[in-house]
Amino acid sequence: MTMSNSPCTDDGLTLRFWGVRGSTPVSGPDYAEFGGSTPCMEVRCGQRLFLIDAGSGLYHCGQHHRTGLPKAIDLLFSHLHLDHTGGLPFFKPAVLDPEQVINTWCGNLDGQSAEAALGTLYAPPLFPVTLDILPCTLRHHGFKAGQTLTFGDGAQVDTILLNHPQGSVGYRFDHAGKRLCIISDIEHTDPWPDEELMRFVEGADLMVYDGMFTDCEYPTCRGWGHSTWQKGVELARAAGVKALAIIHLHPGHTDTVLRAMEADMQAEMPTAFIARERSSVAVGAQAARRPVTLARIA
Ligand SMILES: [Zn+2]
Ligand SMILES: [Zn+2]
Repeated sequence: MTMSNSPCTDDGLTLRFWGVRGSTPVSGPDYAEFGGSTPCMEVRCGQRLFLIDAGSGLYHCGQHHRTGLPKAIDLLFSHLHLDHTGGLPFFKPAVLDPEQVINTWCGNLDGQSAEAALGTLYAPPLFPVTLDILPCTLRHHGFKAGQTLTFGDGAQVDTILLNHPQGSVGYRFDHAGKRLCIISDIEHTDPWPDEELMRFVEGADLMVYDGMFTDCEYPTCRGWGHSTWQKGVELARAAGVKALAIIHLHPGHTDTVLRAMEADMQAEMPTAFIARERSSVAVGAQAARRPVTLARIA
């Protein structure tokens, strides 16, 4: 596993974290290393782009790529809670481009698309305008978590329903012999690891996992829909997952806290790391024992 700030390579499976904070954005000197934007990730299967979630990190994705994004984008929602949808209208310049098509994919509402929910969120008095005034074309697709998504160009992505209030969708990307699983938001179950989830992530080169809490913090946050890095390590070990990235970082976990947490985690699983906003990963390229410290790219 390598982490760098170089552009994604032409082939292979790559992942860039545009937002890794859970629940609410944070900012300030205590969050300089891991970042404060809420979930958004960019997955490239070769040059084929997928965006996962539209948290406030989506703004940075738009600002970084400017006009360099494909004219049709597939945006896969894990679910529609505010920390995963709040960046959508700020995905500029894409949403201001009349030639841009954004396909949203929502799988946690029993087949319903995100259209009605986003229409409720983005309307006065909660938001000054509705999304239909944006120059881009938004097409909303609904599916049932558990289905394999097949896109127009033949690309396929597997999905699984996760344990979270109103449900959430985990995604699995297989490309060029590498496997990436994104498993957030999720609360672990008892017993753990869950058999179906274990099969879903089996043999992944990288699993991205919801580590909002530590095992120590978890008892007072039971039922809130989130997990711990320790449960991520347990799942990774049981399923033969080669590397683990923790996201959905707690807003109260400062850089100092997260660095200590990462050291604890790497004592258990040397290829595990806590995701840093704006960093990118070449999935399965090399098993690093610890992440490379990153400089900001923009
Ligand atoms: Zn969330
Ligand atoms: Zn949620």
